[in-house]
Amino acid sequence: RTQPQSLLAEANPESHVKKVIGVVSGKGGVGKSLVTSLLASAMQKKGYRAAILDADITGPSIPRMFGVSYKVVGNENGLIPAEAANGTKIMSVNLLLPNETDPVVWRGPIIAGTVKQFWTEVCWGDVDYMFVDMPPGTGDVPLTVFQSLPVDGIVVVTSPQELVGMIVEKAVKMAGMTNTPVLGLVENMAYFECPDCHQKHKIFGDSHIDELAAKHGIEATAQLPINPALAAASDQGKIATVDTADWLDSLTAFIEARHSV
Ligand code: ADP
Repeated sequence: RTQPQSLLAEANPESHVKKVIGVVSGKGGVGKSLVTSLLASAMQKKGYRAAILDADITGPSIPRMFGVSYKVVGNENGLIPAEAANGTKIMSVNLLLPNETDPVVWRGPIIAGTVKQFWTEVCWGDVDYMFVDMPPGTGDVPLTVFQSLPVDGIVVVTSPQELVGMIVEKAVKMAGMTNTPVLGLVENMAYFECPDCHQKHKIFGDSHIDELAAKHGIEATAQLPINPALAAASDQGKIATVDTADWLDSLTAFIEARHSV
């Protein structure tokens, strides 16, 4: 890495995190948190110890997706992350706020500082793969987060419409600024599969994912359908129970191979 070491925050002494994967998107609402949760759950299912650092401070949705609502506690070494039913460790601002419906109206530097504290002041313990649900966009806050955490690679989540835009280029450029490899490109809501005839309907038109991945030298891609079961599972806190093998297997296998622990 050629990232300026001075910006990197030091991990808590009680943390032994082997790989850190950032999950980014161009804007909110494209399914970044959903993909983060599914990737962590898939790795946990493979037998790894997974964790999620919820850096999406103004829109924290990870705890809800895993059905975790208790408040985290600390000891003399720092905060103890929450643990979902499947064993995935989670830290989110929602687990600290007295009332999780309170809006977080903090400014950029405070947000970036909080994310940094989730790295320096949380006792993560032994973690094989930590997924960071990044603040949406490619602005100042995600860039600062990038520079302060030792991110090994990123996964870019987009919607079909964004694929034709410049969002992927921007995310790739941001990753390039910190010399972070782009591991995968996920197209969320790529199609809808009819439950009766199993035909795949491309609601937003043909996909451009393969040409974009080729253009940027991104080796792994994944497509997720619009699926009511995904929405229901995330609303009901059961995201870890969704079987994602058909959609995410090649991406998780690539992460495993490229960043073995
Ligand atoms: P982001 O983190 O990008 O803001 P989320 O992951 O929170 O977006 O997703 C926004 C909402 O859309 C959530 O309620 C989620 O359950 C729903 N959603 C996302 N992707 C899908 C999908 N492929 N099928 C059905 N619902 C989805």
